[in-house]
Amino acid sequence: MAGGKKRLEDLDVQQWEEFCERCARCCYEKIDFEGRIYYMRIPCDQLDLSTGLCRIYDERDRIRNDCQRLTPEVVAAGILPADCPYAKQVANYQGPMLAEEE
Ligand code: SF4
Repeated sequence: MAGGKKRLEDLDVQQWEEFCERCARCCYEKIDFEGRIYYMRIPCDQLDLSTGLCRIYDERDRIRNDCQRLTPEVVAAGILPADCPYAKQVANYQGPMLAEEE
C-alpha cells in the first residue's frame, strides 16, 4: 500500500494485510527486559526462512498461542522494527533493539 499516513484503526482487513511487506523480521523471538523489547536472532519455528512466510499463518492463533497478532495497540507497544510500514504510522515510534546492540 503506497501513500502517506493512514490511521491503522481505519484499515479494513485487506488493507491491514497489504501493509505488511512480508520481510519476516517480526517473526524472530523477542524478550521484554525491564519494559524494553529486544530482538533475538532466533526465528519462530513456524517461519519458512526460504520464503519469509509463516507456515501456519491462518492457524497461528491456535497452533502458536504465544504468537502476538498485530493490532493498532500491539503496534503502538513497540514490538515491530521502526521501519516496518505499520510502525511508520505511529508518531514518535520507539522500536525494539537487537539483543547484541547494547
Ligand atoms: S516487520 Fe512489518 S513488514 Fe515485516 S513482516 Fe513484520 S509486520 Fe510485515
